[in-house]
Amino acid sequence: MVPAHKSEPAFYLLPLSEVPPRLLTICRHLAERLSRRCLDWPGLADTASESTASTTEKTGIFFPPDNYLDHIANVSSWLAWTCDNVSTRYFISGECAGGHRFAKELYCGKEWCSVCGADRSPAHLRRVARWLPKIMQMSSMGYFIFTLPLQVRYRYRTQESLASLGRDIDKLLKSFGYLRSLRRWHWFGETGEEYHPHLNVLVDGGFIPLSKLDEIKAAYAQLLGVSVADVNYHYRTSPGRMLHTLSYMTRATFLDYHWDDYWAHEVKGFRNMVVSGRGLWQMPPAWTLSQVEGKYQAELEGIDLEAIASLVQKKCPVCGQPVVWKQVLPFGLLKLVDKECYGAGYYRIVERAPPARLSWTIRERLRILKEKTDIMLRASSQEARLIEKQRHDSVFYQLPLVTSAAETPELAEDAWQGLPEAS
Ligand SMILES: [Zn+2]
Ligand SMILES: [Zn+2]
Repeated sequence: MVPAHKSEPAFYLLPLSEVPPRLLTICRHLAERLSRRCLDWPGLADTASESTASTTEKTGIFFPPDNYLDHIANVSSWLAWTCDNVSTRYFISGECAGGHRFAKELYCGKEWCSVCGADRSPAHLRRVARWLPKIMQMSSMGYFIFTLPLQVRYRYRTQESLASLGRDIDKLLKSFGYLRSLRRWHWFGETGEEYHPHLNVLVDGGFIPLSKLDEIKAAYAQLLGVSVADVNYHYRTSPGRMLHTLSYMTRATFLDYHWDDYWAHEVKGFRNMVVSGRGLWQMPPAWTLSQVEGKYQAELEGIDLEAIASLVQKKCPVCGQPVVWKQVLPFGLLKLVDKECYGAGYYRIVERAPPARLSWTIRERLRILKEKTDIMLRASSQEARLIEKQRHDSVFYQLPLVTSAAETPELAEDAWQGLPEAS
């Protein structure tokens, strides 16, 4: 007997315009989940052997690359490694040539981590701090949002296509006179769950007439090959609103990887904070944080954003010399030393003069304490090395490791010197 699908195809290719958007989304998700198995579907086998792009053009269904499943197998552990499910926290110690000592806590930085994905989390504040010196050079800030119409969104499901679109938008903006910019993708909208990439771009800019915005929209639509594409634009002139806008655009939007597990895998390692305008970012600050007023002061509450910004750039906030980040250590050690908290998981270790003269009993107690600390360090370093091995993919963890306290005597020495004075 001839199978039904041989005589009558069970699957028809519809032009995109005839497929209801919701159905399109469901199909896309199904195709992604089933991955290569889609190719066995009756009626799709022939078209699937064509290039992925042409199949996608016809059906609106996105086909993941051939090695998709291998890719998932390689990195699925990466998805699960988030700060909220590890038992031990770590920090890295650092020092400048001037002898100022610092510590920074380690975070996974993933948007779907319940720690790192929160507003004003250390990961979020570090992104704000990274671009703070740049937005402080803007006397007036223009804020563009380039959205992707639903019918072309499926084309932008790879790192390459999104990076390339980012570069094209940068060229477009340069042709309109915006020579330097900061850009970052948001993956989801306010309500989440539906892949909805939109590019946020900060430029030097103020009021622009509607006719100019229409020209930018038309150029963008042409870039995408569609008749209409939306571009939002706002501008900010007060330091508070500029800082708030930076905070908004650097926030996490991909709060649950189950919203789009294909994309959670695909986005690994994507460089999402892009600065454009080489050599144009050397201007003196146009404003200072002391000019942030009113409700926007909440952005600065409880943190020293300038010190964080300095340390993010590996520069000592005290003397301005380069800071060298050295060893990964268990967070428990940091509790033993006096420190000043800058916020975003950054600390300055407070220096203390060694006690002048101690009795034999106290010295003996301290010697025993030092021995215990050395033992703890060795065990913890071993554990740290194991955890680091499993996390080696994560950007935040590609850092040198301490091998053992015995091999790095200065480490034990540091912990020793940092102990509170015996009384
Ligand atoms: Zn995290
Ligand atoms: Zn210094």
